[in-house]
Amino acid sequence: MGETPDPVSSDASAAGILVPARITLFGFDVVPANARIEARSTGWRARRASIALAAGLIVAPAVGLVPPHAPWAVAALGMGLVMARKRWAEVHTLHLVDGACPRCGESVSLSRPARLRHPHPISCPSCRYELALSVDL
Ligand SMILES: [Zn+2]
Repeated sequence: MGETPDPVSSDASAAGILVPARITLFGFDVVPANARIEARSTGWRARRASIALAAGLIVAPAVGLVPPHAPWAVAALGMGLVMARKRWAEVHTLHLVDGACPRCGESVSLSRPARLRHPHPISCPSCRYELALSVDL
C-alpha cells in the first residue's frame, strides 16, 4: 500500500527520450532546456503518410459531387498530399519542452505533440514572443 508507482513508467504519455535543448531569442541569452522527443521509424511514417493520402483519395470523389465540382476534389487531393508529406517528414516527434523564456523567464511548454523542426518555433505564454527551440540530437 505504501508503494508509490514509478512516475515515468506509469505516465502513458511519457514516450521518447529526454534530450538537452536550447531556447533562443534574438538579443537575449540562450536558456538551456530539456525536450522529450520520439524517433519515428520509416514504417510509422509510411503508414501515417498512406493514411493521409488515402483520406484525400476517399474524400475527393465525395466532395466532387458538390458544385463547382473540380475545385473541391482538387483541394481534397491537395490536402491529402500535403498531410502525407507532413507525416512522412516527421522524423522526430516533440512531446515535451521543459524550459524558460529568455525574455521574461516564464516556463514554456507545448500544447500538443508536434513534428520536431530545426529550429522548432514555440511561443512564450506570457510575453507572446516567438522563441526558437534547438534540440541536440
Ligand atoms: Zn516570455
